[in-house]
Amino acid sequence: MSIIRQLPPHVVNKIAAGEVVERPASVVKELLENALDAGATRIDVAVEQGGIDLVRVVDNGRGMTADDLPLAVASHATSKLIDDADLFRVRTLGFRGEALASIASISRLTLRSRQADATAGVQLEVHGGQPGEVAPCAASVGTTIEVRDLFFNTPVRRKFLRATQTELGHIGEAFSRMALAYPQIHFTLSHQGRSIHDLPAADTWRQRIAALLGEDLARDMIEVASEDNNVRLHGYVGSPAHSRTNARLQYLFLNGRTIRDRSLQHALGEAYRGLLLTGRYPVCCLRIDMPADMVDVNVHPTKLEVRFQDSGRIYSQLLSTLRTKFLTSDLTHRLEPVRQDEAVSLPAAHGLQPVSTENFWQGSQPQLPGTFALDPPRHPGPLQLNRLDRPWPQAPVAFEEVAPPQNGSHTAEFQAAATARPHGRTSALQIHNRYLVAESDEGVLVIDQHALHERILYEHLRERAAQGNIESQNLLVPEPVDLSPAEAAAVLEARDTLAKLGLIVEPFGGSTVLVSSYPAMLANLGPAQLLRDLLELLQTGGKQLEPRDLLDDVLHMIACKAAIKAGDRLTPEEITALLDQRHLAQDQHHCPHGRPTALLFTREELDRQFMRI
Ligand code: ADP
Ligand code: MG
Repeated sequence: MSIIRQLPPHVVNKIAAGEVVERPASVVKELLENALDAGATRIDVAVEQGGIDLVRVVDNGRGMTADDLPLAVASHATSKLIDDADLFRVRTLGFRGEALASIASISRLTLRSRQADATAGVQLEVHGGQPGEVAPCAASVGTTIEVRDLFFNTPVRRKFLRATQTELGHIGEAFSRMALAYPQIHFTLSHQGRSIHDLPAADTWRQRIAALLGEDLARDMIEVASEDNNVRLHGYVGSPAHSRTNARLQYLFLNGRTIRDRSLQHALGEAYRGLLLTGRYPVCCLRIDMPADMVDVNVHPTKLEVRFQDSGRIYSQLLSTLRTKFLTSDLTHRLEPVRQDEAVSLPAAHGLQPVSTENFWQGSQPQLPGTFALDPPRHPGPLQLNRLDRPWPQAPVAFEEVAPPQNGSHTAEFQAAATARPHGRTSALQIHNRYLVAESDEGVLVIDQHALHERILYEHLRERAAQGNIESQNLLVPEPVDLSPAEAAAVLEARDTLAKLGLIVEPFGGSTVLVSSYPAMLANLGPAQLLRDLLELLQTGGKQLEPRDLLDDVLHMIACKAAIKAGDRLTPEEITALLDQRHLAQDQHHCPHGRPTALLFTREELDRQFMRI
């Protein structure tokens, strides 16, 4: 007798569910796809507890008959494919016939449906894959699917679920993608009975983009379109000023389906080369439409990845469409204010070498070809060094004794200036607008002005945060900031930690949050910019930071942003003030990122180098 057995359908479905249903957001995605395939013009999504307790999707599509219901939840049952040839000309979002069966196997699912010509509706309940009897019910035309207690019979899966806000963020993301792909459909989303989105059918795609990604971003987006060999590309790409630190806001739709495609993302990055700083990503909503037989959509269980017949060609089309558009657009005002301590790389295609922003903005601005002219950045305002003159919360750390000069090896030209102390009332020479050179008892100190200031501010902040009194500034009028649903969820989830930093955020309907108070040290930054930068920390590749680590990261960020920059010219008074505060830092020889703040060239080493000894 063989030990190999055919698995029973409920096991098969649970296995499939492992691939198809990762989290509540996957359920939302599958149910939305079905509603769209059924020709719905209005789709309402309601979730409870981040979708873990309930996901309900109501559509006004064509509905199902009593005979359809058991088949809808049976595995590999679909109305969308007739034979295998259809697989290569898929025009619907679904075709695998396994979503409902999978979801039903790991939840308590209720299907209610009615077709337009039926006098009443029909209903079917499925508990953990076990279907009940089809029964008549009252229903309006269309279909309602309720999914309760997701993963109730797969406890391991359930354990992997994150906090409600995180799951809600993922749902918001899945919802937004669908709503972006189908602007002509009325979509709504609510959580615990509270409306998050109400998106009536939009007249233009830009209107829908504005409703989901924010007015500011949508307004500045640049429209692009091209057609080549039956491949139509149309959509909007973000102005460089709205770049992000990751590719999350790059929405690509292929024949109405959200896709992730590394090659197309790469093309996008190439198109923006020179317009964005390294590590920044453009935002886009792009629709690619092509005959269904030019692409294989059956390569990924959640259909997120596809295989193009000629991916090289699509890559080139995207790249050249964007490039051409940029060359004829005036992007001058759209360039983001560049942080002076970051390097800009210029378009390689134009044969320019990367230069530092410092030369870039100051006089020696290279003549850039074409329309890639860059405005000098809006300067972040007067230096904030006066902060250093404030009374410090803690007694200054006692000065360490000056270490005896080391008779180090000849190869070591300098040593970290851990304990070297500049002479008396210190004066120093600023060089290259970034280093301070000072004489000390032991030799010559070269101090990195940004690294040192950052360290001092960081320790000050850390101390204050521990005491719970970081200076914060209440806004006269709380400022609403538009974010994506996932971003809003991430910010709200970190609310308590942010409050410790003097940043008070509250939900404000949809994916907008309200900032009512923020750290006084960052007065120059503005709440919107601050939140966006914070999101980079909050959404580090999905990994969840411990509140303490997050706090520390945010303190680093605030210190870094508030500190004087490399490239800032300092007055003699400012130099003195900075050096005078130096001893207040406990670890004065490393910036919070671990770089040294100062280097000491010992007198002995200098003597040796000049062959005096
Ligand atoms: P697929 O979408 O791949 O066909 P599903 O398991 O998602 O597989 O759905 C199975 C079938 O149930 C669909 O082919 C469709 O006929 C029917 N169905 C599911 N949801 C709906 C809906 N909202 N309206 C009408 N029919 C639906
Ligand atoms: Mg489906």
